[in-house]
This record gives sequence, structure tokens and C-alpha cells, in this order.
Amino acid sequence: MSKIVIVGAGAVGSATAYAMAITRACNELVLVDLNFEKAEGEAIDINHALPYLHGMKVYAGQYEDCKDADIIVLSAGVGRKPGETRLDLAAKNVSICKDVVDNIMKHYNGGLFLIATNPVDVITAKVTEWTGLGDKVIGTGTTLDTIRLRSELAQMFDVDVESAQGYVLGEHGDSQFVSWSLSNISGVCVDEYAKIAGVSLNDDVKTQIAHTVKTGGGTVIKKKGYTNSGIAICITTLAQTILGGRNTIHTVGTMLDGLYGINDVALSILCVVGREGVIKKIECPLPDNEIKLLQHSAQQIKEILDGVSK
Ligand code: NAD
Repeated sequence: MSKIVIVGAGAVGSATAYAMAITRACNELVLVDLNFEKAEGEAIDINHALPYLHGMKVYAGQYEDCKDADIIVLSAGVGRKPGETRLDLAAKNVSICKDVVDNIMKHYNGGLFLIATNPVDVITAKVTEWTGLGDKVIGTGTTLDTIRLRSELAQMFDVDVESAQGYVLGEHGDSQFVSWSLSNISGVCVDEYAKIAGVSLNDDVKTQIAHTVKTGGGTVIKKKGYTNSGIAICITTLAQTILGGRNTIHTVGTMLDGLYGINDVALSILCVVGREGVIKKIECPLPDNEIKLLQHSAQQIKEILDGVSK
């Protein structure tokens, strides 16, 4: 038996619930939202689909339902309004998430937190601090950026996305960067593979790919008003990794405690994710320029964290 509670049944939470229902990611799925009607509407809608899918319990609930949850997904929050700074948004969502987490912890008796609310690295650090749950708190971090990168590489080299490996590290935000040193096509580093494939991969092309990946979310928001499909699949995949104890490597957001010389900040590096949460943080060798980019990213997140902690 496995149980997942999603707190925040908006665009992200509802798409995640739908993805989890289609893939039968768990046996019991609960939607919690300040707007109970919305959560209930989403749950009823999914229930209407279940007869064509499989047996599963999906319902709208309350914070009491966090009891016995294996995973609690946090997707409650507000989006950035015109004229607001990143710090304004962070302060608002930190305040919403504090209230949500206080309510969850009244009933918490185990399980992992999976954080999607933005700015996700800041919220991941704050939830870790409030709950004291350490590596049981996982941020979606740059998982979405990483799969955007992999799909760009796959298209560029005309290979299946399974063969295209690459990672976006650091902040899920402006200071993120592509680790070109870790990017490869089926084990062959991208620069070598580009030569073999006769594809131009000079610095300009790399900059363009990194830009497309970084602005991917903004592009979608401009056209449809929000992003939800990509992140829903990231959350669902992480949930499957956790519940299946798969120990898969993902670029999730996690608190760093000295790795790469970074402390007291959550950001994305390669992590083994399994039943107990982040079970290993991998300090794989990176060239100096990428370590500097990671440290710069940490600094950017820290400034927001310090701003909201005042
Ligand atoms: P949304 O406005 O559609 O939904 C947010 C939901 O949160 C609403 O249903 C609202 O009622 C609920 N909510 C607000 N305050 C609450 C509270 N105190 N208690 C319970 N529920 C509350 O927003 P969305 O598009 O679903 O986005 C949700 C969050 O996910 C945002 O912070 C967004 O930036 C983030 N997001 C993250 C990623 C990522 O890669 N990590 C991708 C997309 C969106």
C-alpha cells in the first residue's frame, strides 16, 4: 500500500495527480487545497477516468490525511505578479508553505516531502529547516531543466532521448548551468560525439542550448500562462523512484553541507534518490569553471534565503 498527498491542487498539483493516476504511482492519492472545492473537483474528475484505468483511491482531503503518507508533495503557492521581484515571490511562498507545513506536521508520522513550489531551492531549504527531516526533504530542483536539456541534445544529435545524457546543475532559476563536462551521448562525451556525428557544437551553440533550456519555462508561460505537464511528470517520476526504491540518479534539490565548498543552501547536484529520500549526494569531479558556476548559483540562492529569513 502506498499513499501520496498533494498539497496545492492548482495547475501543477492537478496535472501531477492526473499523471500519478494514469501511471498508478500509488494506491491512495489525496488532494489538499485551501480551495477544497477545487481539490474535490479535480479528484472527482480523475475518479471519472479510473474505470478505464485501474483500481485506485483518489479523493480530496484535509491535513489529517497526511498521516501515513509515504510522500507529501508541496505544490501550493502563488505565481509571480508583474512588478514583483523574486524576493517578493519568495517571501509570499515561504509564508504560504510555512502555514502548510505547520498544518502537515500536526499529523505527520513519516514519509518524504517532495517540493515543487517556487522558488523551489529556497522552499526546499526552509522545509528542511522547519521539519528537521534532512534528506527526506527533496526539491524537484533542476529535474525539469535536465529533461529539457536531454530533449534538446536528443533533437540536435537525432538520437533517442534515452541515449542523450546531460545535467543542469545549481538553481532552478536564472543561475542554473549546463554541465557540459557530464553531458554525453551513450557514454561518449558530447564534444567527441559532435565530431563523430559531424554536428557543430561550438561555444555559441552551447550557449544557445543552455539559453533555450533556461528559458523553457518562460516560453511555455508566455504561451499558455503556466507550466504543469513537464513538472507533473518530474514529480511523478520522482515518486515512482522513491516508492520503488529504485536508487535512480536525479538532479534533485538537496541541502549541501560542504560538498563543492557549499554550505547551508539547497540546490541541484547529482543525487541517488531512493526509499529514504536523497540517499547519496555525488560530488563528481567537475572542471573549475563549473564548480565556480555552482558556487555562484549557491550565492544567488543564499541571497534570497537570507532575504526571506530576515
Ligand atoms: P496555481 O495557482 O495554479 O495553484 C496553486 C494552488 O495552491 C491553488 O490551488 C491554491 O488554492 C493553493 N494554495 C495557495 N495557498 C494555499 C495554502 N495556504 N494552503 C493550501 N493550498 C494553497 O499554481 P501552479 O501553477 O499550480 O504552481 C504552483 C507552484 O509550483 C508555484 O510556486 C509555481 O511556481 C511552482 N512550479 C514549480 C515548477 C518547478 O519546476 N519546480 C514548475 C512549475 C510550477
